[in-house]
Amino acid sequence: MTQRIKIVLDEKEIPREWYNIQADMPNPMRPPLHPGTLEPIKPEELGAIFPMNLVEQEMSTERWIKIPEPVMEKLAIWRPSPLYRAVNFEKAIGTKCKIYYKNEGVSPAGSHKPNSAIPQAYYNKISGVKRLTTETGAGQWGCALSMACQMFGLDLKVYMVRISFEQKPFRKIMMETWGAKCVPSPSNDTAVGRQILKDFPDTPGSLAIAISEAIEDAVSSKDTKYSLGSVLNFVCLHQTVIGLEAEKQMKIAGDYPDVVVGCVGGGSNFAGIAFPYIRDRIHGKNVRIVGVEPNACPTMTKGPFIYDFGDMTKLTPLMPMYSLGHSFVPAPLHAGGLRYHGVSPLVSQLLNDKLMEAKAVNQLDCYKYGVMWARSEGFIPAPETTHAITAAAEEALQADAEGKEKTILFCWSGHGLMDLAGYEKYFSGTLTNYELPDHEIEKSLASLKGYPKI
Ligand SMILES: *Cc1c(COP(=O)(O)O)cnc(C)c1O
Repeated sequence: MTQRIKIVLDEKEIPREWYNIQADMPNPMRPPLHPGTLEPIKPEELGAIFPMNLVEQEMSTERWIKIPEPVMEKLAIWRPSPLYRAVNFEKAIGTKCKIYYKNEGVSPAGSHKPNSAIPQAYYNKISGVKRLTTETGAGQWGCALSMACQMFGLDLKVYMVRISFEQKPFRKIMMETWGAKCVPSPSNDTAVGRQILKDFPDTPGSLAIAISEAIEDAVSSKDTKYSLGSVLNFVCLHQTVIGLEAEKQMKIAGDYPDVVVGCVGGGSNFAGIAFPYIRDRIHGKNVRIVGVEPNACPTMTKGPFIYDFGDMTKLTPLMPMYSLGHSFVPAPLHAGGLRYHGVSPLVSQLLNDKLMEAKAVNQLDCYKYGVMWARSEGFIPAPETTHAITAAAEEALQADAEGKEKTILFCWSGHGLMDLAGYEKYFSGTLTNYELPDHEIEKSLASLKGYPKI
C-alpha cells in the first residue's frame, strides 16, 4: 500500500459542536477573582467587556456546544484543514518515528486564530455590539479578527505590541486591507499608553500593556466590547475543531498518537489539538501531551501556579494560572505570539494535575528546525510554530535513542510568510538565544505580593 501523506476530509466532516473540557476535568478550574473584591467574578461583571453569550460559554460546563450555522459557513472557507504525515521531515532528521501535523496555516489569515475570531465576531454582532477592540502580539490575532469583523460588519481597533509592529510592518497593511485600524502599543490613544510612554519611552511593549489599552478603549467607548485571542476558556473551546478533525484524520491514517504536541503562547492552538486527546487520557488512554514554550518566556516551566492579572494595569480578573507576573516584559523574541506572561487557566489546571507536560526550547534550535522543515516539507513555519516542530523532532530523536518507534502528532499553527525578518537574522548569524535568569522572574513576581495564593 502506498503511504498516505495527506488526509483531507469532506466539508461535511467539520465538527458541528465544540468540545468543552470543563465537563471532563477531574479537578475543575479555580474561579477567576474580581480584581477589587477578590471574590469569584460574577457573569454580569465579565459582561462589562464581553457579550453575555460569550460569558456563558466561558463559564459553561456542558460537554458539547453547538457551533452556530453562520459560523460554520465561514469556517467552511478553509476547514476541515489537512492533516499530513511529514515523511520528508522524518527523513531530514533521520527518525524512525512517524510525525503527523495538522496544518492550520491554510486559513486566509495564515494561522489557527480565525477559528475563534469568527465565532467571537459573530456572538458580538448578534448581541448588538458595533465595534471591537483587541491587542495583538505578532499580528496573527489582529489579522484574524480584522477578517472576522469584516465578515460580520463590525469596526475594529487593534493595539499591536510595538516590537512586532516594527518587525512585521506588513501585518498592519493586512489588517487595514480587511478594514481595521491598527496602532503600535503603547500608544498615545489611551491614558495607560500615554503613562507607559512617559515612564518607559523605549519599551518594546508587551501583550499585557496592549491588553490594558484595548480594555480601557472598550470600557470608555460606546457600543464597544473587547476581544481576546487566547487564554480564555471560550477561545480554547473554539479551537477544539482542530483536535476533533485530527482525531478523524488519524483514524483514517490508521494511527493513534503516542505524543501530542502544541506550542503555547496563551494556550489556544495547544488546547485545540490537545483537549480531545486529554479527554482520552482522562479516560485511561496512554497518550502523552506536551505544551512547548520559549525558554525566554518560560511561563509553564518556571512560573508558579498563582493568581495573576491578565494585563499590565490590573484591569482583568485575577486568573489562576502559571505566570511570570503581569509586569514581566519578555525579551524581543521573533515568536511574538509566545511572549505572554501567563497561560490559559484551563491549561494551567491540566498541567498542575499532570494531565500534560511542559517543555521549553530556545530560539536558535527553533530556527534550525524551522529551516529544515521548510526545506523538507515546503511550508515555511511561523516562529511560534517552529517551537512545536522542535519539540516534535526532539521527541522523535529521543524515541530513536530509546529504540522506540513513536507516533507524534502536532499542531502546525501557522505559516511564517509575514515573519521573514527572523529568518533573515538567523541566516546572517545575528539571531541570539535569550535565557531568562531566575532573579528576573523573582523581580516580576514581587508585584503579586498580597494577592491570593493557590
Ligand atoms: C498566536 C499564535 C500562537 C500562540 O498562541 P496560542 O493562543 O498559544 O495558540 C502560536 N502559533 C501561531 C502561528 C500564532 O499565530
